[in-house]
Amino acid sequence: MAFAHELSWSVSRSGTFATCRRSYYHNYYLSWLGWSWDAPPQRKLAYKLKKLTRLPMWAGDCLHEALAAWFEEKAGGRERDAAWVEAHALKALRDGYKQSRDEAAAWEKRPAKNIRLAEHYYGEPSVDESNDNAKEYGTRYVERIREGTRAFFEAPELERVRAASPEDYLACEELGTIELNGTKVFAIPDFAFREGDDVWIYDWKTGSPREQDLFQLAMYCLYAEQKWGVDPSAVRCVDAYLPSGQYVEKTFTIADLDATLARATESMAAMRAVHFDADAGMGDPADFPQIPADSPEARECRTCHFRELCDRV
Ligand code: SF4
Repeated sequence: MAFAHELSWSVSRSGTFATCRRSYYHNYYLSWLGWSWDAPPQRKLAYKLKKLTRLPMWAGDCLHEALAAWFEEKAGGRERDAAWVEAHALKALRDGYKQSRDEAAAWEKRPAKNIRLAEHYYGEPSVDESNDNAKEYGTRYVERIREGTRAFFEAPELERVRAASPEDYLACEELGTIELNGTKVFAIPDFAFREGDDVWIYDWKTGSPREQDLFQLAMYCLYAEQKWGVDPSAVRCVDAYLPSGQYVEKTFTIADLDATLARATESMAAMRAVHFDADAGMGDPADFPQIPADSPEARECRTCHFRELCDRV
């Protein structure tokens, strides 16, 4: 069955929209249908670039997947230890890095099924193996995974997560949707479970805190209300910055959640104002301005996947 292009919403999509309209256009419009063999070259390129990742993101994905596998193993009656999670995550990290470096042709053919780091694609100095750069850069993320795994297994703040019984699990890294204002909203809570009358939602973080993180937690409360029929102001949320050992626990008042809903509604309305049917055409990129090259915000371009399309390589 063919997918139809539609406007949907997520916290990360709203973040892209707020940061750079052109990146938003490339991500959600120009790349649409770029997987088809007969797509126009610009669409194919946007789709490919959308599928790039970066080592910090890839390391985060590897740890998330290893933790999800730990929960799954536990649900299957197999208790795995920290060494198992670390080995699982590090193998994925190294396999992905090697594939990115050595198998560019495979990614060119099937970008959704292979790993390609933007650092390799754009030949960034951080992955230069003719000196110590690549080793130092890679070691940073190996350490991040090690520290994150240690925190997951040792932090007192995560005791209830480790002790949770599988029959109380509500979600573990599943992409879910709810509807707000007639718009489909995507969310992927990293781990949610019931503890007595309480619902806890955890987000694993491998980078530094961002303003958007609390917005995401509050959206999870609205998600929990629709998905599991719970009082959203009673949901207990935690942003767990695993490698740095910071744990931000939050509950949101009804007023907080009203403000969150208002912010999401405003973001949806702004997106709807520039929305067009990408099945019918590629639209006008001028409706989605680039970040001015001489503005301080242009620092975003340095790590953006779409530099090639913007002539900012
Ligand atoms: S290269 Fe810069 S202007 Fe172009 S999409 Fe990326 S962030 Fe936006």
